[in-house]
Amino acid sequence: MHYNWIFLCLKISTFALMEFSSKLLENAVNEMSQLPGIGKRTALRLVLHLLRQPENQTFQLADALSKVRREINFCKSCHNISDKVLCEICENPNRNSEFICVVEDVRDVMAVENTSSFKGLYHVLGGKISPMDGIGPQDLNISTLVEKVKSGKVKELVFAMSPTMEGDTTNFYIFKQIQGYNVATSTIARGVAAGNELEYTDEITLGRSIIDRVPFEASLKS
Ligand SMILES: [Zn+2]
Repeated sequence: MHYNWIFLCLKISTFALMEFSSKLLENAVNEMSQLPGIGKRTALRLVLHLLRQPENQTFQLADALSKVRREINFCKSCHNISDKVLCEICENPNRNSEFICVVEDVRDVMAVENTSSFKGLYHVLGGKISPMDGIGPQDLNISTLVEKVKSGKVKELVFAMSPTMEGDTTNFYIFKQIQGYNVATSTIARGVAAGNELEYTDEITLGRSIIDRVPFEASLKS
């Protein structure tokens, strides 16, 4: 048997045998380990850390988490996380509501906003179509996007989904839904990262960059 495998088995069995001296501690560790990327050992370390911290600091964390869960809203228009009915981006009169950037989740809104390169609005789908994970179009905020297009007030949809098969499927599904309406569609360019050597770029990315090549004059603007 491989040594790593023996080590892993030992580690698992050691944890399985771990006796908690307190039911409260065990409960806290079990809850903490439900978080993504947090195993039971890390959960134990974090809970013990919280116990060592000044009491008010731990209560502030607990309070912030419970408040964010209870009080946060999703923007009625774009489904971004918001404290109010409409998010700050949708409410901003300086944003161009004729351009809508379609993204998978709230983190993507933050990523695009950080570039300061997009002055339109967003539409957060809440995921991407993934039959393998049982996620269909009806599970996403697609119908509200189609309604926006049907209203005739949208000039262009910019698809900014991740460049995966699921992302492409989602783009294509939406594209089919809005066919026949007077709206332009585009996808964010996919290409070689700034500063990357070509020989280290994977062939799919390089291939797409050649297909999506831009006129040289356009490249001078960036
Ligand atoms: Zn919004």
